[in-house]
Amino acid sequence: MKIKEKLLENKVHISFEVFPPKTDAKFDSVRAAVDEISTLAPSFISVTYGAGGGTSKNTVKIASHIQNDLGVDSIAHLTCVSSTKEEVRQRIREMKEAGIQNILALRGDIPQDSAFSIPNQYKYAYELIEDIKTQGDFCIGAACYPEGHVESEHKEEDILHLKQKVDCGVDFLTSQMFFDNSVFYNFLYRIREKGITVPVLPGIMPVTNGKQIARSCQLSGAELPARFRAIVDKFGNNPKAMQQAGIAYATDQIIDLIANDIHNIHVYSMNKPEVAAAIMSNLSEIVK
Ligand SMILES: Cc1cc2nc3c(=O)[nH]c(=O)nc-3n(C[C@H](O)[C@H](O)[C@H](O)COP(=O)(O)OP(=O)(O)OC[C@H]3O[C@@H](n4cnc5c(N)ncnc54)[C@H](O)[C@@H]3O)c2cc1C
Repeated sequence: MKIKEKLLENKVHISFEVFPPKTDAKFDSVRAAVDEISTLAPSFISVTYGAGGGTSKNTVKIASHIQNDLGVDSIAHLTCVSSTKEEVRQRIREMKEAGIQNILALRGDIPQDSAFSIPNQYKYAYELIEDIKTQGDFCIGAACYPEGHVESEHKEEDILHLKQKVDCGVDFLTSQMFFDNSVFYNFLYRIREKGITVPVLPGIMPVTNGKQIARSCQLSGAELPARFRAIVDKFGNNPKAMQQAGIAYATDQIIDLIANDIHNIHVYSMNKPEVAAAIMSNLSEIVK
């Protein structure tokens, strides 16, 4: 099913994200994690794509397994910045052949050692989206950044680029992680004012590793509010306590979003079925 159709339903949808195995040896363990997550009846599962395309075949394989074997809707991510247009078109053909209907179209992070203007490359996600539209009847998602994309000097400018991207044929947006819901509400207000009307799924990250969060925030530009910083300071060195506190914090964010009529929520639980299960258990009376 196309995700854009699902998002029209008047019910709460929780989706999860997984990443594909980097090597074939890890394929079975990733598949086992995905199988377990699928039993939680998520609205859909998204499968990330390694920038540079190294894990691209596994993205397609895992997304196809979720959809065709497990009967859960999936969306395959696709980045374009480190590949030629022909390589990207080949991936799109593979996705089509595997019956994948949903693509999250991304530029990807620019590799440190790469010149930006390699000929025959896409420069921005909107160019990839224009191309996907010519290659099949896909439902297309794209990324958005409530706190502004790290490369953008002005949030206003970032939103104008977002509008250009959406106008190329984006059906829905998924946001970068954030830890303060008021940031998301404020972002929604600003993009709606600029005429961006597609559904926006907030991205919620249950932080389970206190040591990784500082680096993730640096890369993504997400701010850690004082309330959450105190949790990381207190429990960051105690993995089990950090996991419990991180899941509780994420659950709190999700409940607040639902209470404010945000019905479609994407959870970055990655390949951790126990984290996804704990979130669903915490919402058992809220999401039916
Ligand atoms: C939900 C989500 C999922 C993700 N999944 C993956 C994944 O699977 N694999 C992966 O490698 N990365 C992933 N990323 C990270 C993403 O690839 C990076 O954040 C990347 O740097 C930007 O990708 P984009 O598609 O948002 O780029 P774009 O929309 O192209 O924007 C990138 C930057 O360029 C600017 N820009 C856009 N258009 C123009 C223009 N016309 N002129 C000038 N500037 C412009 C924007 O303001 C922004 O600063 C994900 C991010 C999110 C939020």
